[in-house]
Amino acid sequence: MLILQCPYCGVQADETELSAGGETHIERHGPGSSDEAFEEYLFARENPFGVHFERWRHSYGCGKWFHAARNTVTLEVYGTYPAQTTEPPADIRKRISGVAPGWTWRFLG
Ligand SMILES: [Zn+2]
Repeated sequence: MLILQCPYCGVQADETELSAGGETHIERHGPGSSDEAFEEYLFARENPFGVHFERWRHSYGCGKWFHAARNTVTLEVYGTYPAQTTEPPADIRKRISGVAPGWTWRFLG
């Protein structure tokens, strides 16, 4: 079972208390952008076999959205952080590099 610590209230919440929000750190495109960029923003999502960055909501707790970095194969959680964070914190990226050398993620590489 997936267990994530809510970065706001500190609760170790199992997946029955959470709602998945899909991939996070997506570059937003709107009016004025190219058709290709807008199409990618709307429909293209990563579905990696390994390191993944996701949005989760503590639905049956404090109700707030947050980000989680985890491994989709091992279910190892590298960390959670507030939804207002525009990219994964350095400590989480360092932790991932320690266990998954050479990992990449879109713009993070
Ligand atoms: Zn919470």
